[in-house]
Amino acid sequence: MAQRVLITGGSRGIGREIALKLASEGFRTTINFNSREAEAQAVLDQIISEGGDAELLPFNVADRELTRSRLDADILKNGPYFGIICNAGIHSDSAFPAMSAEQWDEVIRTNLDGFYNVVHPLVMPMVRARTGGRIITIASASGMMGNRGQVNYSASKAGLIGATRSLAMELAKREITVNSVAPGLIETEMTQGLPIEDISRLIPMKRMGKPTEVAAVVSFLMGEGASYITGEVISVNGGLG
Ligand code: NAP
Repeated sequence: MAQRVLITGGSRGIGREIALKLASEGFRTTINFNSREAEAQAVLDQIISEGGDAELLPFNVADRELTRSRLDADILKNGPYFGIICNAGIHSDSAFPAMSAEQWDEVIRTNLDGFYNVVHPLVMPMVRARTGGRIITIASASGMMGNRGQVNYSASKAGLIGATRSLAMELAKREITVNSVAPGLIETEMTQGLPIEDISRLIPMKRMGKPTEVAAVVSFLMGEGASYITGEVISVNGGLG
């Protein structure tokens, strides 16, 4: 029986590449999305056409009750997850004095509360399965170094890193690893419209990263070769520091 893995925000960008890669490696992938059904369906269709196994599971990770009810029903029907990739995330940037309470709340609720909302219903079924497991959070260079205009986003990602490290300690004896991948600037819709040439000058590798370059690290962490790595944050940022 193939191992199950859930990818939140698997419809586009980095999450899409993670879903395609893990499905190609034989994982039974569940693709979560929030609003872009057509794009999620396209990822599902590609996986199926390449001989993989996948299904869609829409919910807003910021909605605690909805997330729990969808995940409880999913586990009841399909069994526990071996892997959870907490990838869904948003940003809403502005200088801090101009940052509204809504901007603060929506980013924290999606990026940080989303971790609790998704992982909490899944963790005990994963423990009870006694097969070990993998939990991977997608943080950000912004959560490690800070970034102008991203006080909310940076706080959410720094919080995610703290949650990752602490949960790693709690689950280590169960052979469940918990790690974080911290991308720098990656070519997705999230970074569209940014002054790429100006930003690239600040990156030692002088270019943005590709979603496939993040997915490759997630794939490594999901594999048997990473079974003794836990509580780590792996940067994928072209040498940003
Ligand atoms: P993206 O292209 O904007 O895609 C975001 C994905 O998250 C979409 O699949 C979206 O679903 C989903 N999503 C957003 N809010 C959601 C919610 N409330 N519930 C469920 N799903 C939700 O972003 P990306 O660049 O691939 O980013 C993926 C992750 O990497 C994020 O956590 C981001 O913070 C992190 N990251 C990105 C970069 C970068 O440079 N791109 C750098 C560092 C970290 P819908 O399609 O349904 O809207």
